[in-house]
Amino acid sequence: MSRLAKAADITDPLLWRDAQHMLGRHSSPDEQDQCAWCGKAWPCDARRLAERAAAASKRGWRESWTARHDINNLRSLPRWRREFY
Ligand SMILES: [Zn+2]
Repeated sequence: MSRLAKAADITDPLLWRDAQHMLGRHSSPDEQDQCAWCGKAWPCDARRLAERAAAASKRGWRESWTARHDINNLRSLPRWRREFY
């Protein structure tokens, strides 16, 4: 993960910011190979989604729209803010 990515590479700064936030939370597995943040099997759903979102934020609008849609779906779940975000 790099915060030094060139701004010019990022086509969706909001999605990029959200992805970095999630990557920072779900950053590593614990000794049981579960996410140290949310306790799910590593890589957890949030980690995979964040990685996808980070990649999508640097590509075309079509993919970034899809990733944002996924994130918004996750956020609509009551557990999202408590566990994922
Ligand atoms: Zn996690």
